[in-house]
Amino acid sequence: MQQTTDLYLRRLCRSLTANGVAQVGYSHLAAVLPPRYAGLPWGISLVFRLSTAVVDEILTVKDTPSPTFSYFQHYRAVNAFLDQQTLWLCTMLERRGYRALPVPASQSVKDMGPYSGIFPHKTAAVLAGLGWIGKSALFVSPEFGPRVRLATVLTDMPLPVAHNRVPNGCHGCRACADACPAGAISGQDYQPGAPRSTLLDPQACSEHMKRAYRDIGRGAVCGICMAVCPYGKQRPALQDKPVATGRTQTE
Ligand code: SF4
Ligand code: SF4
Repeated sequence: MQQTTDLYLRRLCRSLTANGVAQVGYSHLAAVLPPRYAGLPWGISLVFRLSTAVVDEILTVKDTPSPTFSYFQHYRAVNAFLDQQTLWLCTMLERRGYRALPVPASQSVKDMGPYSGIFPHKTAAVLAGLGWIGKSALFVSPEFGPRVRLATVLTDMPLPVAHNRVPNGCHGCRACADACPAGAISGQDYQPGAPRSTLLDPQACSEHMKRAYRDIGRGAVCGICMAVCPYGKQRPALQDKPVATGRTQTE
């Protein structure tokens, strides 16, 4: 049975990665899920690598890093793409008799707290062994840095989870904190279980975006802390990199 499940998962992963998803990872989330999702304790994380050209433009468009129209459009297109992929994945899992719920790529839900979605993608991605949470409060992939968008599917299908964790790679860097025009990033290291507010003031971030970038994407994007991170600035060729347990990578 497990072998059949693994084969089916491999087929699903192949389709996702053929579509452009860079990495797929599996996690067991029972300890961190809100009670309403207790029946869906497994997580499938999808990592989409953002365009290097689009993100680099944030660094070069003006004298100081600034969001661009291209980045806003890319951000929306990638979120829509990821929502399509998780919709498809849920349909495939349900056809197989499992329950599956797509966590929207980008959505704030008031009753989950300010500036929060129904479940944090980065929690699932970290537990899947795909990266760490940086001083910017962004998910950071060792290969792609924070230049990614994430999506998550919650399911009751037992998954071959990763038990490896990627160690925090921020060390003495504070490029994101120094570059943030809102002063919203404290520069503290992420500590498991600590609230997001120890790293980031999301209200200061949001208010700055609405005020300073109203004419670019109606103040909904910035991207400076993502673009300045040293991780992901290079775009190495990662074709055919070996696949780790519970983690699939095709780029
Ligand atoms: S998105 Fe912009 S304003 Fe918000 S924390 Fe990052 S750099 Fe600061
Ligand atoms: S810019 Fe530096 S401190 Fe910020 S997330 Fe990246 S590595 Fe960590």
